[in-house]
Amino acid sequence: MKNPVLLLALALVTMAFRTAPVKDALTPLDANKVRFEGIFEEYIQNSIIHWNKGVVPYAGFVQKFRTGRDFFAQGEMWGKAVRSGCMFYRYTGDPELKRLLRETVYDLLSTQRSNGSISCSDIGRQPDGPGGDLWERKYVLLGLDEYYEQVDRDPKVLQAMIGEMDCIISQIGPPPRISITEQGWSPNHIESSTLLEPVMRLYRLTQEKAYLDFARYIVEDAGGAMGYRIFDDAFRNVVPEKIGGVYPKAYEMMSLFEGLCEYYRVTGNDYWKTAIMNLFNNIIANEITLIGSGGGDQPYHPAVMGEAWDNTALEQTNPDMKRMMETCVGVTWLKFCSQVLRLTADPAAADMIEKYAYNGLMGAMKPSGDGFSYVNLLNGVKTNPEGWGGTVNGVNVTCCNLNGPMGLAYLPLVAVMNSDDGPVVNLYNAALIRTGTPSGRPVTLNMVTDYPHTGQIVIAVSPELPERFSIKLRIPSWSQFNSLSVNGKIISAKAGTYAEIHRKWSTGDTIRLHLDTRCRLIPAPRGSNRAGDAFQALVRGPVVLARDENIDTDYNKPVTFLSRDGFVEAIPEPPTLKNTLMQFMVLTTEGLIHVTDYASVNNWNGSHICTWIPIKK
Ligand SMILES: [Zn+2]
Repeated sequence: MKNPVLLLALALVTMAFRTAPVKDALTPLDANKVRFEGIFEEYIQNSIIHWNKGVVPYAGFVQKFRTGRDFFAQGEMWGKAVRSGCMFYRYTGDPELKRLLRETVYDLLSTQRSNGSISCSDIGRQPDGPGGDLWERKYVLLGLDEYYEQVDRDPKVLQAMIGEMDCIISQIGPPPRISITEQGWSPNHIESSTLLEPVMRLYRLTQEKAYLDFARYIVEDAGGAMGYRIFDDAFRNVVPEKIGGVYPKAYEMMSLFEGLCEYYRVTGNDYWKTAIMNLFNNIIANEITLIGSGGGDQPYHPAVMGEAWDNTALEQTNPDMKRMMETCVGVTWLKFCSQVLRLTADPAAADMIEKYAYNGLMGAMKPSGDGFSYVNLLNGVKTNPEGWGGTVNGVNVTCCNLNGPMGLAYLPLVAVMNSDDGPVVNLYNAALIRTGTPSGRPVTLNMVTDYPHTGQIVIAVSPELPERFSIKLRIPSWSQFNSLSVNGKIISAKAGTYAEIHRKWSTGDTIRLHLDTRCRLIPAPRGSNRAGDAFQALVRGPVVLARDENIDTDYNKPVTFLSRDGFVEAIPEPPTLKNTLMQFMVLTTEGLIHVTDYASVNNWNGSHICTWIPIKK
């Protein structure tokens, strides 16, 4: 859109909004302050041991910056592998992980070219649009930035980022430089503008005006994609499936909006906050499925391989769907939600993170810990590793193998946060949390629970000295009847809000929370195939349940559940298979059936899952 009248009108609209730097409502705790002891810890350690400290071919990734890429965008691999490693290091402080990361960071720095770039393209070919050079350099910058912020503040690393970014700015920008929307491999080139996030992170580190100017160029001049003003479309409440024309690419769009969150934080212009919140709410309303991710191939965007927004919330039972819910989409949704949570303290963002964490994210990970499914189905063969990627030093590497661990590494970042009034508990899982009170004194929260097996959570609060402050607890939107008390005194706890406990806390104070994990019977949405008449699903607390062919040959036979007021009785039983987290018996007109948590179902052997269960007429 180059219409000058329209551009002027947009400029006036954006100027009318308030501008001042934004203070986050919630802030992450410092490194090493959260120690999970439950199921989150098992998944995180499995990923660290078998992926980040296991098969990742760091030297092979770096080699592409010397010898060139084998296929478009391959240079993304290094940055993605390193940033999840750095975020895991933030959680564990593991010296062996640090050594691995340090070694590969200095290996990468040795590839920096004479123009400052760290790139898989020779200087003469830069900026290499079809090769995905800018997208790759985005991940170089994010990998280096995560290392610099989480592992080691070596000035050489900062200098390398500055060299990379200054080179980009010398090549890309307003005329006579090359437009960022002319660079990329996709139909609308949205991927290149995702440089917004690293440029804002580097601005935060350096306060260099040229970086903020470049960010402003990406957002306010270039508009996010070739031929589309992505941010303005989000502001105008365009549904996600229609943003960006034939290519509403879910992962890249949210990555772009992670950058917009950083841009809003610095500029404080509420126009951008409205764009962020509108996209966030429209994704929830139109895209997010039962297991907390989105995007699909049918019926709207078959050419985008299941990686486009697709009105997936409505289409999730569409039997024509072959590919949906790319793991990169789920993880980037989780990360975008964490930005919204920090900016606004909206409990809906934490609800969404929980929904994806316990279902889509865990359900996509290989039981062997060394990778993730690419796309994820609700009915059929759940996992499918086929997609963009290739073999590096004998290891099959896909974008989703690289992004999955980042989703796990974000769980400690969001589980408990801080506010001006005191700690805020977003996720429930057995954990020991060491944080600070509003006056800056240490306080420990010891969360004892077998969640998500039950909804019983006990938190022992131990401040160093007695102090008056608040502890906030997220009450999930699915939890209708709750009981919350401190030392036996009852406190109100309403679904979909934070329950606030403001009092003078002393060591020995104990919070008891009981969430309503009764098994809910969920009717299917009515998409273009009107499947609402045909399927139902079971969700118990945060956990989606499913039928598994591995334990039940009738796994996809129609049944009618015996329900009352929208709930069914799910009776716990010992799992049939040893790697199953939870298994239940549920009564139907066809007798008792066995269901397990969606995440535990192992379809890597080609067996099938049935999550939307056909209704017997
Ligand atoms: Zn992917």
